[in-house]
Amino acid sequence: MEIFRTKSELSEFLTSQKAENKKIGFVPTMGALHNGHLSLVSYAQLHADLVVVSIFVNPTQFNDPADLENYPRPVEADIKKLRDIDCDVLFLPPVNEMYGQNEMWHIELGNLENILEGASRPGHYQGVTQIVNKLFQAVKPHISFFGQKDFQQVMILRKMAEIMSSPVKIVMCPIIREHDGLALSSRNIHLSDAERSTALALSRVLTLIKEQFKNLPLPELQRSAEEMLRTTEGVVLDYFEIRRASDLEPATDKNLPLIALVAAQVGKTRLIDNMLLNP
Ligand code: AMP
Repeated sequence: MEIFRTKSELSEFLTSQKAENKKIGFVPTMGALHNGHLSLVSYAQLHADLVVVSIFVNPTQFNDPADLENYPRPVEADIKKLRDIDCDVLFLPPVNEMYGQNEMWHIELGNLENILEGASRPGHYQGVTQIVNKLFQAVKPHISFFGQKDFQQVMILRKMAEIMSSPVKIVMCPIIREHDGLALSSRNIHLSDAERSTALALSRVLTLIKEQFKNLPLPELQRSAEEMLRTTEGVVLDYFEIRRASDLEPATDKNLPLIALVAAQVGKTRLIDNMLLNP
């Protein structure tokens, strides 16, 4: 596996690969890699000739400085995991390679930016689009892979690609879960054993709502999910919402594709999860 820390070295290598007509697949990550990330690499390997993974803990998408500071950075273990699955290229830039001083960025993302994760984490999606745009410029991939785990992020990035007339194809890959349903997340390592058991409430409630979807009206599903989450000790609910999967606007018609999304704090760790209800 080639490891590059500068855009110029990366671009020199990728230019030579593209000259051989290789299709470049790209998986951006913030590291602390788990099987969710690695599944994206596997999808990329199926759909591209050369796979680039980036690891960059992007400061502009964190609205809580403590969250940024505490974000896990096990770089050596990450490199080993990527080597073990035959990843071709790792892009591992330092912060000053990606950002100059006092850089400005704003992209008009409409209401998608103000709801759900956007409402809870002001500025988060400006930071996400800022870095993914920079990474797309550096890698210039043909195709890029993102997890459904961050469903709203995928919608935001598709919107960014449309606004910027980007040629990059954006593919959404399924959520990888532990055997008991917990969605894999780099933040799970912050959970104590007790908190980890508590965190299972999120995927359990999503599963239950999916099971009851046919039988109960939407307001009833919404009410019972919220009640279950609010009465689970140790879970501080941020939101549970059933939304249209096409634009994340409120769901009114059960015949349209719908998605349930949840965010909650368990101990000091903020967790998100979601499930398509009628795929
Ligand atoms: P992150 O390192 O958290 O920025 O995530 C990098 C990519 O991995 C994003 O596209 C995430 O949606 C994706 N991802 C994170 N967790 C999972 C998971 N459990 N299953 C599938 N993809 C995931």
